[in-house]
Amino acid sequence: MRILANDGIDPLGKQLLEDAGFIVDTNHIPQAELAEKLPAYDAITVRSATKVRAALIDGCPNLKLIGRGGVGMDNIDVEYARSKGVAVINTPAASSLSVAELVFAHLLGGVRFLYDAQRKMPLEGDTNFGALKKAYAKGVELRGKTLGVIGFGRIGRETAKVGLGLGMDVIVSDLFEAPKSLPLELSGGITVDVPIQQVETEELLRKADFISIHVPFTDKPIIGKAEFDLLKPGVGLVNASRGGVIEEVALLEALDNGKVAFAGLDVYDNEPTPRKELLTHPKVSLTPHIGAATGEAQERIGAELAQLIIEHLKK
Ligand code: NAD
Repeated sequence: MRILANDGIDPLGKQLLEDAGFIVDTNHIPQAELAEKLPAYDAITVRSATKVRAALIDGCPNLKLIGRGGVGMDNIDVEYARSKGVAVINTPAASSLSVAELVFAHLLGGVRFLYDAQRKMPLEGDTNFGALKKAYAKGVELRGKTLGVIGFGRIGRETAKVGLGLGMDVIVSDLFEAPKSLPLELSGGITVDVPIQQVETEELLRKADFISIHVPFTDKPIIGKAEFDLLKPGVGLVNASRGGVIEEVALLEALDNGKVAFAGLDVYDNEPTPRKELLTHPKVSLTPHIGAATGEAQERIGAELAQLIIEHLKK
């Protein structure tokens, strides 16, 4: 059986598939040529780039499986594929810890003004050292501060665990009842069960010193204009979930008027052309949607995808 890994697959995943007897083709076929070339394959794996829509599925009667390495499946007509007997699988848990660690890259950078220092040191570090030192003199520690996690699913839980590991007080909100505690795995094989406090989102918005959002795509922002009024003055916000969960125009206003001290953004309304005012804002720490982009996450994604493909196609 032939598998087209059109957006690439980690070498470990490729090896597992080849060991199981599959032929894996990692040459990228441009979207416009897929209708002609995909019929030669039994399965396709994609990340977020390649689109697998109904018309393509109709043109590939041999296609048995569509695999998404990662979480969101906006680029696949999932229900249509399944209605035609094509299995659709993804690897939702594999990248959670990597996203959680990126949240803390933004938070730890935020409380020490790294987002600004990294911009100014190359320009003024040798002429204005003293003034910059003074400008970044009022840092704070995360320990003992309250982290609010909105959306307590896979990534929200990993984020909470990192926060707990740093000695933060963690409060969470979710549409559903959350677990009462989380197992914190420490070095040396020690696991500690740490109690978790679930509150209503409104209470979280009022109480948290830092807020990280981990919900799926929503039509309505979780933090829109009205919610900004509820926040603690000087709060730090992180969005590594989906563009749109924090209302960007209201965020800019809140950064400008000081209500929000800093924001860490990995995702944007209008990817891949985010708003210029955000990209150039002096209080925003920016990454280009790289939450899952670690070697470890990609290896876990590749291995999990291979395992699922083997289970589906070898039964
Ligand atoms: P998940 O489904 O495991 O968890 C989402 C949680 O949010 C669920 O518990 C759900 O009940 C809760 N929720 C939904 N709407 C809510 C609301 N209005 N208020 C409070 N809670 C709400 O999802 P996940 O795997 O943790 O992923 C979370 C987000 O992270 C997704 O949007 C995903 O696309 C994104 N993500 C980003 C990256 C990145 O590179 N930055 C990588 C992977 C995933």
